[in-house]
Amino acid sequence: MSRKDRPIAPPEVAPSEIQERPLRYVEKRREPLRVPLPLIAPDIVHLAELVAALPAPAQERFGRLFHVSTCIGYLNPPETMHQWIEGYFGSVDAVREQRIVKVTNMVTMEGALFNELRARRPMEAKAVSDAVKEARTRIGDPFCWPEKATPEDVFGRVRGQHSITASNIAKYDGFHGLVVFNEHDPLAFDAEEVADYVDTAYRWAQKAHETDPEAKYFFFMWNCLWKAAASILHGHAQMTVTRGMHYAKVEALRRAALAYRQGCGSNYFDDLYAAHADLGLGFERDGVRVIAYLTPVKERETLLLADSLSPALKRALYDTLACFRDRMGVESFNVAMLMPPLAETEEDWSGFPVVVRAVDRGDPVNRTGDIGGMELYAANVIGTDPFFVIGQLKEAFLA
Ligand SMILES: [Zn+2]
Repeated sequence: MSRKDRPIAPPEVAPSEIQERPLRYVEKRREPLRVPLPLIAPDIVHLAELVAALPAPAQERFGRLFHVSTCIGYLNPPETMHQWIEGYFGSVDAVREQRIVKVTNMVTMEGALFNELRARRPMEAKAVSDAVKEARTRIGDPFCWPEKATPEDVFGRVRGQHSITASNIAKYDGFHGLVVFNEHDPLAFDAEEVADYVDTAYRWAQKAHETDPEAKYFFFMWNCLWKAAASILHGHAQMTVTRGMHYAKVEALRRAALAYRQGCGSNYFDDLYAAHADLGLGFERDGVRVIAYLTPVKERETLLLADSLSPALKRALYDTLACFRDRMGVESFNVAMLMPPLAETEEDWSGFPVVVRAVDRGDPVNRTGDIGGMELYAANVIGTDPFFVIGQLKEAFLA
């Protein structure tokens, strides 16, 4: 067990087998046993107490945005499990009573469940797996020769300094392209390259819009490695431009933010940032607001808000991904960028910023999916404390 968000479950063997092979589990565990640290910093399972300590106006703002519900789950482990529990969690008492916090964004109806056992497990250093190492260096895929092995769009290709566009061969939408990175290794990116990928995608979107003026709604995404649904390992991002209205989730966010403004007179995104900043979960750099989100879609989700697709925002995207990769050991991630349409539309997009979302999709060598029935149909089960994430982001951004 080397990964923080690996599922917590005892080995799937009958008790008789445990006795026959008592060393098997011990052998697998190479890290020293760790006891949860005493509370020395704010943490997610004490969110309700942290909010209660805020000044009244900040509490009121938080309450407009979020609902927090805390409960304790109890269990009684049999004697035969004690050794395993002590090895994994430090003590049997640590699991007998577990504090669980359910956070709901009342504006967007996104929800997250945090369990102190998961949130408090210490961060463990993790070596890059051989499977990932091999994939990162195994060149010879179609994206290594994009001009020979990928189609182009009707308006041709857009060339960046470090990338070139291709037309997606099996499209999500009428305009669906790729930014194929010159660099094969999907995790070898620097600040200049990340900015180039975003710029190239945006120039491609403008070409699509010129080709079809009704195609107005631009969406950018970057799926890194197979856990994040990338079918080709070679570094690439994707972009679409859609017609009629924006994609359902983006339109839902626009409507939610609009209803919020109509209901309480303030901008949803401004209040969202302020509520996070009040708790120490947000900071600003060069006009870009950085948030370790309280209702993340999955692990370590980070939101970036900016007034435009500015150089500072692209730099912030790089710093976020570099923080994921270099400080938190993330190898597989999704990035999405949402923004108002490329041209005037019927809907009211006023006050809607450029929103970048980045999320860790878990260990590429862990065969267990990170999204199950809970995430699809109920609320997101999260194993990383946003207070830990913001600490890492601050160090990376302000370094
Ligand atoms: Zn390649």
